[in-house]
Amino acid sequence: MNLKRFLICLLLLSSIALAQHPAPHKKTARAAPVTRPKADPATAIHQSALIIDTHADTPQRFLDENFDIGQNTPASDGHIDLDKIKQGNLGAEFFSIWVEPEFKGDYAQRAMDLIDSVYQQAARHPDKMTMAFSADDIARAHDQHKFAALMGIEGGHAIEDDMRLLRDFYRMGVRYMTLTWSNTNEWADSSGDIQDPNVKHHNGMTDFGKDVVREMNRLGMIVDISHVSDATFYQALLVSQAPVIASHSSSRELTNQPRNMTDDMLRAMTNNGGVVMVNFYSAFIDESYRKASSDPEKIRQRDAEVAAYKKAHPHPDGSPVTYDETAGIEKKWAAQFPRPPLKSLIDHIDHIAKVAGIDHVGLGSDFDGVTSLPEGIDSVADLPKITQALYQRGYTREQILKILGGNFMRVMHEVEATSKRLQDERKQSDALSFEDIELMVGNRVNPAQLVDRIRQHGVNFDLTPERRTRLKDEKVDDSALDAIVKARKK
Ligand SMILES: [Zn+2]
Repeated sequence: MNLKRFLICLLLLSSIALAQHPAPHKKTARAAPVTRPKADPATAIHQSALIIDTHADTPQRFLDENFDIGQNTPASDGHIDLDKIKQGNLGAEFFSIWVEPEFKGDYAQRAMDLIDSVYQQAARHPDKMTMAFSADDIARAHDQHKFAALMGIEGGHAIEDDMRLLRDFYRMGVRYMTLTWSNTNEWADSSGDIQDPNVKHHNGMTDFGKDVVREMNRLGMIVDISHVSDATFYQALLVSQAPVIASHSSSRELTNQPRNMTDDMLRAMTNNGGVVMVNFYSAFIDESYRKASSDPEKIRQRDAEVAAYKKAHPHPDGSPVTYDETAGIEKKWAAQFPRPPLKSLIDHIDHIAKVAGIDHVGLGSDFDGVTSLPEGIDSVADLPKITQALYQRGYTREQILKILGGNFMRVMHEVEATSKRLQDERKQSDALSFEDIELMVGNRVNPAQLVDRIRQHGVNFDLTPERRTRLKDEKVDDSALDAIVKARKK
């Protein structure tokens, strides 16, 4: 008999003895019950949840600062690292492949460098982190207690107006694309410059832009409407056959920011079946902070300081000075305005849950891309405080699990199912799409052959003026254009 078993026996014997001969003095004064700390319900909910955040700008840190996600850095440097992820019980993150417009001429290259930086992190930490490309991948990583890394392109200009690049990005693992960033591109308007008369706008999206949405549906890449103009938003919803997401957008009713969503847009999201992931940035969730920080004179001072820094620190190779290099200036500037209370963030979640419905709200922090967060939220490690606050507001376990990740998982499954259906239909359909024509042109099919194929198969699209110009630019001759008009199948 080992010592442990001996001690247990002794304990049992003495307790039997005690039961038979209760101590006389303890008759009235009963021993206080052992108080074990009761796991509080909000903590239990948070720890059992599959938590998904759909927007963080950390890849710039990976690439431009050589930051390793395994390093534990102060929250003032960065909002995300593996330790903080564990503390916050974050299950999956969509790392933003954000291409700064300053990289004009090198958009795709910059996007690919950022994509590579995410894969490099996963390769360095295979025991704790894994790349994920589907809803099932996210669930599998969760079962294995690994953090799942996904990627979303922020800013449609990254595809350089080329459908083939869009497909290549899908093949590289990108699973959503924000149609625009703050800049209007060649095919979709942004909320960021919609008031600027010097920018050429499209009244929403061009035909090519709508084809981008269709091709994303077919690929299984989630259409992200954060940042886009209101017209682009409504058009994207009309065209998209799959639910869309706002990867990091809050409510305009509560905080009057043009890139936040109006109640009407929120209701449109309900009909679409999509999900709005609430952005945590102070200026998007708190009207007082927004007003204070949009003082034109203060903005002018900040912009001047950033411009001066850029001028004083040019890159020897001529590449643009990146956001990360000037983020310190921006953070210092933002700190002059008091941080809003956590309540402001919870109000946005609450409002979207009430207007769009509990099935249409989630979390899109914008960590590592914003200069101010509400009080108490210093990094991803503080996510449990959000669960705590929702629980205190009366949200049930089931509702909280939907907000933390369940809603997003549903949408991702639906996008994947739509993609499968569209790909199956395409195989059965004989008519050529505009895409097919462009592909043949790109592959240098000779003009006579092109006309033959168009006559033989028919086409499933209208030759709008924009498409006609596009094909003419690609040197398609008039005989093929005539054939397309005649071969339209209804
Ligand atoms: Zn953004």
